This record gives sequence, structure tokens and C-alpha cells, in this order.
Amino acid sequence: MKQNKNGVWTSWNANVIHNYKSLYKVTTEEELQEIVKNSEKIRVFGSKQSSADIASGVETLVDITSYNKILSFDDSAHTITVQSGLILSELLEIIEAKGWCIPCLPDINTITIGGALATGTHGTSGKLLSEYITQCSIVLADGSVKKITEKDDLIDAIRISLGVLGVLSKITFQCEPLYTLHVKEGPENDSIWLPKIKERLKKHDFLRILWLPHTDKGYVIKGDKIDVNKEIKEDAGPSYLKHRRTASKILYKYTHIFPWFTAIANKLLYLGFFSSTKEHKGSLYQATVTKSRGSTLELAEWTIGLDKFPKVFEELKTEINKWSNKSFIHIPMDIRFVYKDTSWLSYAYKEDTVTMGCVSRNAATADTYEAFKSVERIFLKHGGKPHWAKRFAAKDAELSGVYEKWGDFKMLRKKLDPANKFLNPYLKDIFNE
Ligand SMILES: Cc1cc2nc3c(=O)[nH]c(=O)nc-3n(C[C@H](O)[C@H](O)[C@H](O)COP(=O)(O)OP(=O)(O)OC[C@H]3O[C@@H](n4cnc5c(N)ncnc54)[C@H](O)[C@@H]3O)c2cc1C
Repeated sequence: MKQNKNGVWTSWNANVIHNYKSLYKVTTEEELQEIVKNSEKIRVFGSKQSSADIASGVETLVDITSYNKILSFDDSAHTITVQSGLILSELLEIIEAKGWCIPCLPDINTITIGGALATGTHGTSGKLLSEYITQCSIVLADGSVKKITEKDDLIDAIRISLGVLGVLSKITFQCEPLYTLHVKEGPENDSIWLPKIKERLKKHDFLRILWLPHTDKGYVIKGDKIDVNKEIKEDAGPSYLKHRRTASKILYKYTHIFPWFTAIANKLLYLGFFSSTKEHKGSLYQATVTKSRGSTLELAEWTIGLDKFPKVFEELKTEINKWSNKSFIHIPMDIRFVYKDTSWLSYAYKEDTVTMGCVSRNAATADTYEAFKSVERIFLKHGGKPHWAKRFAAKDAELSGVYEKWGDFKMLRKKLDPANKFLNPYLKDIFNE
């Protein structure tokens, strides 16, 4: 097992930086058990792609990315078992080669399985990624390993655990048969797409709306399952569309100094990059997941029950269109849909849910981005929940008001980790410990 001493841990976009005393790179469960057992304070990290300060900040760190083997398949049950440091893209490529899929994928493929599960990572038109776990093992604070199956009561707490109940070790996913999506994309006025959400969720197998703040427009992406051999009219749109990120970077470069320029930049970006239509087909992974990203962005994301969403959306839109409050928002705000489940810390606990992303295209100046504050205030007011991996300011008092099972989760955490081994300062605040 490799060990580095006295170094500096830096998150993907350099917004979170901490010193550490020991950093271990593990390759076996036994090594993981030994370090957890012998550490007073410990955090495990994957690809370091979370905006929230949840992955380090204590003296002992474990880099889980070398604990990344595919362990087994069950061909008749369509399940695959992997170690938690595996990168999502590797999992998806292997299951696609077998003719399987996981039917709800995030818009990023460089994250680890453990990081994705611990923070409630999701896609659209399906359930959270962690809902596809059929069984897993975790290394508890005392170094012992506990196996948990779908039949255990603990599964509803473990699916989204922020890494505070133990370290996820081996995970078995339930896959489904691979399918092909026929994807159609194009712009629509807010007055058109907003009232059609429920009808479209019933009609289509995939729905995602990239809302374009300050333009009154959304860019709607719909997908329908088709036979893999069905011919469709492929239309990738104008070739200059691939320059969207570069154009955004240039246009938003000084919006931390002149926030109002965002409204003008968004109109230009809409005209240049979101006003045409596209049509294509492919698997969910190939046709809808972005494969490469620069590290220049900072993210927040809030979630709200499907029925409440139109009201929250209208309130947010009115608020950010007031030029007085400086809450100008970069393109796009990603609107996605997650179906209800029973996991304690899930955004979709007991209700179908809408998620709405908020991006600052300039990570270094994210602290001055007023939009993060306005979005949080409005969503919290209506009972919304923050994405665990992204930027938010809410703590125990607010979270206990929106998570029905918050108290139960806290009690379980205390039982499994009485010495608070897995809490860093950020998580201590979150749990009011
Ligand atoms: C460009 C971009 C796009 C994104 N798109 C989406 C999206 O579409 N949908 C979505 O929901 N999220 C999205 N995210 C958020 C992302 O899924 C989470 O930040 C995820 O946690 C990142 O995984 P990671 O491997 O980098 O984890 P890290 O950031 O390294 O760790 C995250 C947390 O997981 C814990 N952890 C890591 N491994 C384990 C383990 N084995 N056991 C227990 N705890 C563990 C860490 O301690 C930490 O608390 C996106 C993020 C970025 C930067």
C-alpha cells in the first residue's frame, strides 16, 4: 500500500484545499480495513469532483481510485459487482459490451462509483444511481466489513450515506437490457415547455431541459426507445456548436465584475448555440452523457417535488430577472427528473422530483456568484433539498426541516461511528456534532 506524508489535497477545480498528514492508496479491502481501524479521523476520496467540502479535511485520507476492479458478473440476473473506486466510464463500457445498461446516468463519466453513490448522483427520467444497488459491503468505523442486501433495513440509509456510515467497498448493480434512444433536441419558449412536463414524462423515455436564464427559453431534449436498426434522420446541427464551451468561457470571463453582462451573454449564446435543432440515436450512455469536461466550473443543484416545480420555477425566474439583485445565472440550468424512492437521504424520498442545476462557469470567482444564494433561498423556502456533492450553505437546522429521515440518519450515524471518525469539519457542521 502506498503512503504519502504531509501533503496538500486539492479538489478538481481547486476550490477546496486542505493539508493532510497521511494519504494512502489502497488496492484491497484488507488494506482499507486496516487503515480505517487504525485512524482517528479519516475521509476517503475518489475523483475529487465534488464542489462541497466533503471529501477531505482530516489528517488521514484514502485515495480509493486504485481499488477499482470488476469482481464478477451474473449473466442470468444481469448484475455486476465492482470495487468502489472504479471509474463510472469503465463500468458503463463493460456493461454495454454485455448488452446491459443502468437506465439513469449522470452527465459525467469520470467520477468513481463510491463518490457517485455516496452523494446521491443522478441522471434524468429514472432513479438515483444508488437505487440500482442490489447489495454492497461497507467497511465500518471499527474496521469490520458488513454486507448489506436489498432485504436489510439498513439499505435505505446506506444507498446515500455521504461516506459517514462507513466506506463503500464492493457494490453489486442491477442492470437492464441495453436500449437505443432516438433523441430530438431543440429550443422552446418557457411558456411551451413548462406546462408540458408531466405529459412529456409519460410520453418519452428520456426528458431533460437545459433552461437558458434571461432568455425566456429552454432547450428541450427528448428521447424515445427505438429498435436499434431503425433508420433516423441524423442531424448534428451546425459544426460550430462544438465551440460552445469556449464561447461561454470568453463571454462570461468578466461577469463576476459585471454580472449584468450575463444576460447579454446568454442571449448571444442562445442565438449561437441553442437556437437550432438536433436529431440522433444511440444508447443512453453514448447519446446523452457528456464525456469530457474542463475543470473551470462550480456547481450547485437544488431539487423539489414535481408538483411544486412550476411555482418555484416562476418565482426563481422573476427573482433573477430583477436587475437589482445581481443574481445573473450562466447557461444552462439543467432541469432533470428523478422518480421516487425510499432512501433516507434521497432527494426523491417518497416523491417524484425535479432537479435544477446552477453553474458558475468561473470556479475561481464562485464565492461572489449571487445566483447560488438566490437559488438556495427560493428552493429552501419551498422545501427543496440540495445536491449533496454540490455547493450549498444549509446546515442541520435547515436539512432537518426538509429530510423526513434526518433524525433517524443522525442516530444511525452516531451508533455506527460513535467517535465521529468519518466527520470532517464540513460534515460536523452539517450534522451539528
Ligand atoms: C462536471 C460535473 C458534472 C456532474 N454531473 C452530475 C450529474 O449529472 N448528476 C449528479 O447527480 N451529479 C453530478 N456531478 C456531481 C458528482 O457526481 C459528484 O460530485 C460525485 O461525488 C463525484 O464523484 P468523485 O469520485 O469525484 O467523488 P469525490 O468528490 O472524490 O467524493 C465525494 C464524496 O464521496 C465520498 N466517497 C468517495 N468514495 C467513497 C466510498 N468508497 N465510500 C464512501 N464514501 C465515499 C467522499 O468521502 C466524499 O464525501 C457532477 C460533477 C461535475 C464536476
